[in-house]
Amino acid sequence: MAEISFAEHLKATLAGIEAEGLMKRERLIEGAQGARVSVAGRPMLNLCANNYLGLADDPRLISAAKAAMDSHGYGMASVRFICGTQDLHRALEARIADFLGMEEAILFAACFDANGGLFEPLLGEEDAIISDSLNHASIIDGIRLSKARRFRFRNGDMEDLEAQVRAARAGGARFVMIATDGVFSMDGYLANLREIDRIARAHDCLTMVDDCHATGFMGSQGRGTPAHAGVRVDILTGTLGKALGGALGGYIAGPGPVIDLLRQRARPYLFSNALPPAVVGAALAALDIVEAADDLRAALFRNAAQWRSGLTAAGFDLLPGAHPIIPVMVGEAPKAQALARALEARGVMVSAFFHPVVPHGQARIRTQMNARLTPEDLELALGAFAEAGRETGVI
Ligand SMILES: *Cc1c(COP(=O)(O)O)cnc(C)c1O
Repeated sequence: MAEISFAEHLKATLAGIEAEGLMKRERLIEGAQGARVSVAGRPMLNLCANNYLGLADDPRLISAAKAAMDSHGYGMASVRFICGTQDLHRALEARIADFLGMEEAILFAACFDANGGLFEPLLGEEDAIISDSLNHASIIDGIRLSKARRFRFRNGDMEDLEAQVRAARAGGARFVMIATDGVFSMDGYLANLREIDRIARAHDCLTMVDDCHATGFMGSQGRGTPAHAGVRVDILTGTLGKALGGALGGYIAGPGPVIDLLRQRARPYLFSNALPPAVVGAALAALDIVEAADDLRAALFRNAAQWRSGLTAAGFDLLPGAHPIIPVMVGEAPKAQALARALEARGVMVSAFFHPVVPHGQARIRTQMNARLTPEDLELALGAFAEAGRETGVI
């Protein structure tokens, strides 16, 4: 009987999600991820992938993945420290560290795991972590798992950050770490790394930046937001699942002792399988491509500029910035979903974001640019947005 009432309880929760207009549904893409995809037999422009440089279906990555499978097999069937480390894994860790200008790097199954495993081994109850209020869920969870005292500052509010740092210092914290996303993924806003760097220096804090939405396309040669801001940070985390090919995998890069201790103590590293050779081999190829991809980065930011100005001219309400994350603000969740559906009917795939990933009343369509979209694609998509926006009363 308990089983039935549990299922009834879950169904009621789901019905509540549906009634509030908050139900997420998955569309089935037939074939590869890309600027153009096929959904239910229809071609669509894809404006919602984290495929910033368009590498997700790049033939060079596909052949690197195949070559790595031929030479190194399919699976590892082991965590790293037992018997799951190949020469390829160490080569990728060295390559990532070198690319980011850090001493060492360590791979994880995902950046969610990297952030989840980062804080607990490094900081104890004598220490403090100061976290931006809009940090990614994985940073929030990772901080929760550590025993350090927690302080939160309002998103991007540097006065509040400094106040929180002072509070941590006044409380006698031994080590203080400031943790932030390099780019806040719901808004496309950049962290103010220069000011964070200044505050960190003034109060002797460590800095940790999650650069998932920047590595590969921001900063010189795609080295991310610290390079973009011209500062150095102590610890960088990132993903292989976005601009660097879009498969999966995460990493932490930082000073030697940090990475050495994480190899001994980070739970997602110790208790989860090693990345498969295909992903590791392709990621090595992706870094070579990305380092030399000034043309793709230029196309990406050209597209972002064209897209922002076109949407603004059409009367949409955007958040300011230059990042290829371009949120179209709508308000209530049902309206955002209606706009997404009206766009889908016109061959444009977008995704509506609403509570709990953004605050109530700030539902939006988060569009994302891609280096492989052409100016003609964007004109087509702008036409669809104008029609769909009028149809749904958004503009
Ligand atoms: C996508 C993302 C993650 C998670 O990365 P995965 O490798 O997909 O687990 C973590 N942090 C931020 C800021 C992200 O945008």
